[in-house]
Amino acid sequence: MASVLLEASSDALSYVENQEKAAKKIGLHYELISKVNANEEEVLQCIKELNEDSAIHGIIIQRPIPPRISFSMLANTLLPEKDVDCIHPYTAGRLFQSNPLFLPPTPASVMMILDVYQIPLEGKDVVMLGRSDVVGKPLSMMMLQKNATVQICHSHTDDLVFKCKAADILIVAVGKPHFVTPQMVHNNSIVIDVGINFWNGKLVGDADTESLISRVSAITPVPGGVGTLTTSILLQNTLKAYRFQAKHNDIV
Ligand code: NAP
Repeated sequence: MASVLLEASSDALSYVENQEKAAKKIGLHYELISKVNANEEEVLQCIKELNEDSAIHGIIIQRPIPPRISFSMLANTLLPEKDVDCIHPYTAGRLFQSNPLFLPPTPASVMMILDVYQIPLEGKDVVMLGRSDVVGKPLSMMMLQKNATVQICHSHTDDLVFKCKAADILIVAVGKPHFVTPQMVHNNSIVIDVGINFWNGKLVGDADTESLISRVSAITPVPGGVGTLTTSILLQNTLKAYRFQAKHNDIV
């Protein structure tokens, strides 16, 4: 697996550090490629070379993506068979048509948590807070495919507190520490906190967990929740990509 780093921010560095540790633990070859000072053309060239490198089966372009580089250009340049983060329009389109090549790691992590804790989605009212291409949109689609009724909320949504409070399951991915407060939940709410924020030297989610924990039915922690599983799913996708590419090259 190759991880392309475009920004040396503390969050990007902590993501790649976790990936490297996890890959090492399971014996998966991991290459960190720093393109921190590279321009768009150089980054696209790097991706093209990784696409052609038969020793690399999965490529992740580490977020955040700096504004000098177009996310859409990067996504379109990736070979879909190596797109283990599920950002290429083809891989994303397959997901939306209920026929995924890979599951996007963070949304898949949320789905796995709900599944393992036997929290059914069928017929439930879900509020998805956040509509990004990597979390909110694909996750909403995956929950819809499990027969949940999904309301996608964003920065222009009216009556956000009311809508969140009415939900059976509240998923939060806004990137703002302590955004979800006790007034946005009820006794049976299930809160899944996708947020990862570095706040006052600490890693915190988007929910004010301390004040929510005694008020809700269940809540995921940060750290140790969605983000931890995300890395494992990324590695699982890489293994799947290897098997897929090996089969198509008649290796297995
Ligand atoms: P993003 O692209 O910045 O999107 C944030 C979303 O939140 C946008 O849809 C935005 O609405 C919405 N939002 C912002 N302020 C809001 C407000 N006041 N009220 C309602 N909605 C608001 O973020 P992202 O990439 O989805 O990431 C979200 C969080 O998840 C971040 O903390 C990130 O670090 C974390 N994350 C975690 C993982 C993991 O594995 N755990 C993976 C990826 C991201 P608009 O669309 O209207 O602007």
